[in-house]
Amino acid sequence: MLWDGAGVVSGLTRNVVMGTTPPPPPPSTLPVLGCFPDAEDGFRDTVVVSIAGASQADGLWDLSRPLDGAHDGCSITTHTFASKEGQHTFWHSAAHVLGQALEDLHGDDVLLCDGPALEEGGFFYEMFLHGDKRVTEEDYKSIEKAMKRHIKKREAFQRMEVDREFAKAMFADNRFKLEMLDRIPAGEAITLYKCGQFVDLCRGPHVPNTGMLKGFTV
Ligand SMILES: [Zn+2]
Repeated sequence: MLWDGAGVVSGLTRNVVMGTTPPPPPPSTLPVLGCFPDAEDGFRDTVVVSIAGASQADGLWDLSRPLDGAHDGCSITTHTFASKEGQHTFWHSAAHVLGQALEDLHGDDVLLCDGPALEEGGFFYEMFLHGDKRVTEEDYKSIEKAMKRHIKKREAFQRMEVDREFAKAMFADNRFKLEMLDRIPAGEAITLYKCGQFVDLCRGPHVPNTGMLKGFTV
């Protein structure tokens, strides 16, 4: 990780008023940042936001995820890479791109397991490789190259809520993802994130697109 986030503003808060004030953001504007029309410069480096005040919606929230009527009166706080929330979102998003790269390189021979951010900083993606395949340090450069291809394309992270049967069918060939799916309690939303052609079972949140992941090394 090369960017230390120096000089970046974090922790700015606004209240959301749904309806006519503020006006709906134009489609080209990230929906959450559309709530901060008066302070655009301060949000240039925002990675993720947290929302408080709506029972169904408290917690971290993708910048690209729309708000709805449930957020009327909520409070939104921005997080840049200077914050733990921003760092974890950045690192975890990078893990998705690492997963994409591993599938690019190994196709059906790789079964992805889990790819969280690390408490001590950075990211990883746990995986299973069929047969006698191994990943060694000699492969790191080709993994990094494959990741950079996705970063250059600025692929959007798209959140999708699906039902359990759909998710089971999607990951029918990956026993690790099916185990993760089984651990999601009944009644809790099951979410997939699509990024380019890569789809993963994940709660999120993520950065809006892979183009934000400029500084990393494998
Ligand atoms: Zn994720």
